[in-house]
Parts: sequence; C-alpha cells; structure tokens
Amino acid sequence: MSENPSKPPANERNVTLPPNKQTAFPCPICGMQRNIRDSKREKPYVVCDDCGVQLFVRKAEGIKKFKELAATGAASHIIQKGRVQRAVELHDEIKKLKIKRSEVEDQSFFSIFNDDSKNAVRTIDQQIIALESELHALGEAP
Ligand SMILES: [Zn+2]
Repeated sequence: MSENPSKPPANERNVTLPPNKQTAFPCPICGMQRNIRDSKREKPYVVCDDCGVQLFVRKAEGIKKFKELAATGAASHIIQKGRVQRAVELHDEIKKLKIKRSEVEDQSFFSIFNDDSKNAVRTIDQQIIALESELHALGEAP
C-alpha cells in the first residue's frame, strides 16, 4: 500500500491550531485545554472529543465568569488544585492501608494465618491496587 504523495498524511489533515489561554478552557474531566467555540446564539461552549464532554454556558453571569476563568487561566488552576488534593488523599490512604496490611500480617504471624486474615489481606491489597492505579492515572494526566 502506498499513500498518494499529493495528499498530506491522515494525521496532518484538518489541523486545528493548538488552544491558547484566551481562547481555550480545560475539559473538566481530562484537564486538556479545548478551544472555546461560539454557538449560533453567540454563547461560549467547549467540546472535548476524547471525553465526550460538551460544556455549554448559557446565562450572562456564567458567560462573564467563564470568560474571566479562560482569560486568567484560573480554570486550569482549579482543576490542578483538585488533582493535587486527590493525589495527596490517595497517597495518604495507600500509606494507611499498607500499615493496616502489615498489622493484620503481624497479628497473624504467631497464630495460624487463617482464612479471615488471608481475606483481609487480599481485600486490602485489592484496594491498594485500585488506589495506586487511580494515583498513577492522575500522575499521567496533563
Ligand atoms: Zn476531556
């Protein structure tokens, strides 16, 4: 298979300019900057194709705040602040669970490591894995 040399490769067609501060707003789900568009009624909205988010701002007060948040880049800070808070919560929770896990193991060490202990450790491990993967996803996000 060969590509038509007169056509640019598929990933270079319909290139849109990268969003800049005044004309972009972060997607509330993934945090990526998305271009602010204007509806037919000249109300701003943002679409994130990756997340399937459509964020419409319809009232004058909201539009005013939305434009301020976009112009100052504050929306990104709000999202970042939420991410940082969640990352700290996850980190603390993982630490607590690991301590709890070794307590359960220590308590069981001299007695028989019974099914209850095994189930408790297994459940704690599953929770640790779930929280670590959430934390990992937060760390990977922009
Ligand atoms: Zn998104």
